[in-house]
Amino acid sequence: MTDTGTGKPMALSGHCLCGGVHYRTRSLVRSAGHCHCESCRRAASSPVTTFFTVLREETELGGDSLRYYASSPGVRRGFCGTCGSPMSFETERRANEIDLYVASLDAGLSVTIKEHWHWDEHVDWLTIVDDLPKGEGGA
Ligand SMILES: [Zn+2]
Ligand SMILES: [Zn+2]
Repeated sequence: MTDTGTGKPMALSGHCLCGGVHYRTRSLVRSAGHCHCESCRRAASSPVTTFFTVLREETELGGDSLRYYASSPGVRRGFCGTCGSPMSFETERRANEIDLYVASLDAGLSVTIKEHWHWDEHVDWLTIVDDLPKGEGGA
């Protein structure tokens, strides 16, 4: 995603439900997709979680209520300790990247979704009709 005026990446920003946790990134969006894995489903209590991936070093995620949960070895999920909103996903397998939730963006929800991850784990009571690639691996 670029600002057509300058050719530079647009800053994307977002926040949790209560506003206690916020982020801002200058990174290009490296990928974006819907994750259907069981871990994401439970972490968000939602049948699908939609992430976008940016460079860690070009992203600031913070706030007094930011907490982390290590959901599996080498993985931590950021969330707001006040309102409970899921905020981030980080894995040592992609240590230079951080995944943020498209639905927590401040404005526009303007990230283009490219694919489905862990389609093999998707719930069968939600019908999804799109032409995006549906892979079994993923984030
Ligand atoms: Zn909050
Ligand atoms: Zn997942």
